[in-house]
Amino acid sequence: MHKFWAFLLLSAVISLPLNAQKPKNHTSAEIYHELQKLNFLGTALYVAAHPDDENTRLISYLENEVHARTIYLSLTRGDGGQNLIGPELRELLGVLRTQELLAARSVDGGEQRFTRANDFGYSKHPDETHRIWNKEMVLGDVVKTIRQLKPDVIINRFDHRSPGSTHGHHTSSAMLGVEAFDLASDSNAYSEQLNAMDTWQPKRLFFNTSWWFYGSRENFEKADKSNLLQLDVGVFYPELGVSNNEIASLASSQHLCQGFGRISTRGSQDEYVELIKGSLPEDKTNLFEGIDTSWSRIEGGAAIGEILYNVENNFDFKNPATHLPELVKAYNLLESVKDDHWKVLKSPHLKEIILGCAGLYLEASAENASTYPGATEKVNIEALNRAGQNITLESISITGTETKLDLGENLDKNQKQNHELQLKVSLDKAHTSPYWLKEEGSLGMYTVNDETLIGLPETPEAYTANFKLTIDGTTIDFQKPVIHRYSKPDKGELYEPFVVLPKVTASFEDDVMIFADGKPKQIPVALRAGKDNVSGSVGLNLPEGWKANETTKQFSIEKKGEVKTMLFEVVPPDNESEGFISPILTVEGEQYDKKLVEIDYSHIPKQSVLLPAKAKIVRLNIQKSGEHIGYIVGAGDKIPESLEQIGYQVHTIDVDNIQKGVLDKYDAIVVGIRAYNVVDQLKFKQPILMEYVKNGGNLIVQYNTANRWRSQFENIAPYSLTLSRDRVTDEQAPVEIIAKNHALVNFPNSITEKDFDGWVQERGLYFPNEWSEEFTPILSMNDKGEAQKKGSLLVAPYGEGNYIYTGLSFFRELPAGVSGAYKLFANMLSLGKEKIATENEVKG
Ligand SMILES: [Zn+2]
Repeated sequence: MHKFWAFLLLSAVISLPLNAQKPKNHTSAEIYHELQKLNFLGTALYVAAHPDDENTRLISYLENEVHARTIYLSLTRGDGGQNLIGPELRELLGVLRTQELLAARSVDGGEQRFTRANDFGYSKHPDETHRIWNKEMVLGDVVKTIRQLKPDVIINRFDHRSPGSTHGHHTSSAMLGVEAFDLASDSNAYSEQLNAMDTWQPKRLFFNTSWWFYGSRENFEKADKSNLLQLDVGVFYPELGVSNNEIASLASSQHLCQGFGRISTRGSQDEYVELIKGSLPEDKTNLFEGIDTSWSRIEGGAAIGEILYNVENNFDFKNPATHLPELVKAYNLLESVKDDHWKVLKSPHLKEIILGCAGLYLEASAENASTYPGATEKVNIEALNRAGQNITLESISITGTETKLDLGENLDKNQKQNHELQLKVSLDKAHTSPYWLKEEGSLGMYTVNDETLIGLPETPEAYTANFKLTIDGTTIDFQKPVIHRYSKPDKGELYEPFVVLPKVTASFEDDVMIFADGKPKQIPVALRAGKDNVSGSVGLNLPEGWKANETTKQFSIEKKGEVKTMLFEVVPPDNESEGFISPILTVEGEQYDKKLVEIDYSHIPKQSVLLPAKAKIVRLNIQKSGEHIGYIVGAGDKIPESLEQIGYQVHTIDVDNIQKGVLDKYDAIVVGIRAYNVVDQLKFKQPILMEYVKNGGNLIVQYNTANRWRSQFENIAPYSLTLSRDRVTDEQAPVEIIAKNHALVNFPNSITEKDFDGWVQERGLYFPNEWSEEFTPILSMNDKGEAQKKGSLLVAPYGEGNYIYTGLSFFRELPAGVSGAYKLFANMLSLGKEKIATENEVKG
């Protein structure tokens, strides 16, 4: 689970992800480090577009060296990208990447925010980005973030002055950062926000530049740097035992689904920021120059500072508990200041430091991992005072419920107190799921109806336990999320969020079901119990023209978590047709229609995502030749499942054990996306694959990226082929068939321009831009305003067989049930068989 060792390296007190995780134990040095941060009253906001855009070196430097509160505002959650570690795509990938960002912030100590913008995929220009996003809305979210967080300095990752030179989302993030810098202080802008917050004017806006933006290191050397600040982000933190860049590498390495795992670096390293707005500091290493970042910044703060600076300067590493009386005194003073912004921010931080100094262990762990509205759950409480100061546990309650236990008991030194609470889950308690996915959004925006959630990285935990303690005469409330703690023999102790789920959820095995002919299919509906002894009925909603043999079926499931599969025979209509199928579940008089997706990786807390349980059903008139397909798995795609849907038998080929001759039994071999990038062994087996083609085989290679292992691409094809970064991102971009007589567009399915209707996200990516004359380009397409691109589908005969290279996004289109893409893929798999078909015709 999320018990990754990063926490041992650096614990970030105020940036605790909202979700459940292992309670943190702080060493004296870590408490001291947090004190340094507590005593700095300044804020930096870093702005970019995606998970992984952020410069963790700079974020970590601002957080841990400058000690500023540092927040990364990622406009999107990165739904549009690819996934190197699992099957999650689109909104589920957004959930995974959100958690990877939170994991990164746990390492570097920063905080995380988002807007409602949806990463709809690659965009070549900010104009297009702004058209697809609701620009006013996204800008409003950036303005709101500034008004809420009150940053002194804003740092854009990207240059707002160079539209078209990078991903449109990138430039847009910088443009919106520049606009919002001024608008946040304008009371006429987004005035509806001002009921809940004030205007705010940040002092400086920077652009986090580097030599890369100058074209080369040489250009950068020569460039005028009078407007640039230079920061050495390679500093060493003795209290943490690491260099800043080591923390940064570890933070970046949390972006595992993007393949960002990297080795760490150490030593002096310069980072540059260019002043865009505000006054240029005289000290070219100090972003906060002229800004009061001491406790004197707030009314009544000087007295707090006097105490806390003294604690910091005279910190007792042997016995931090000796500082409790002073810390409690500072807490009381802080409670009485008028400045809500800093009070709300610094109070929980100070309380965490008090907990750390007192060696207090407070935990609320639910017996079960999940519950449902109407249930009663046992919550185990552990309270332990390890430093032995005079502390009374007054009461424990669960916020938002009537669950409360009054105690008034002294916590004796190192004498563990265990209590049991009965938590009654109210009938109207919301199910736990990412809040931005609760309503249906648009291509460019999430819909969030609850204003208070907009911007938050994740849904707040279902329940929080409140420990009321009296320390040195002062009563203080400490909040801890209710989590679920358990163990596995092969993993040890594990923590996961305690979640509220429906009594029953349902799911289809496949998101898309293809009916390649008029035959009925058995469709399994998997029902998962969210409680013990659940029973009810299940039926299907079908599009017009589709029929099921039974309207409803009764079910009963004994054990929570158990899955029962019900089979429905579905009869497709005679003609081509597509639509959505969904289950209708009735349990105890209530209707349910959600599926539960769990995302469980060791570097993030387990995620429970509730989405509408629906699947696309497609009746296709598709022809195909051949039966057995060999598949070489690359970075992960669902092409094999899709091919099985239309009746192929797909066999996974174990690359390590490819031997001469064994491939000949396949009618075609398909290479999964980015296989040459991620499967090292493949380059050694390439001669065997070429031999297979030479002997009459049919090899289909899907896209690989050009930027890694470039040298390897000399032998990716039997003839010369140069991969480029050419892509066509508009999924509606017109497609012209330029090799009209080629078998690929005629056998066994006749492909027309209409087969490119209804594609999703993009046409394709990393098209070759140069190829030798043996190749025939089949299609031509381009994004608006760009030159024609003919490299999306290339085919060359080699020996007795055929070699196909395609950057078309079949890995997106087939799982989305796009009929034209299925027909074209069936033609690729059937290539070479047209000769046999013609011979048979002649033989008659
Ligand atoms: Zn990006």
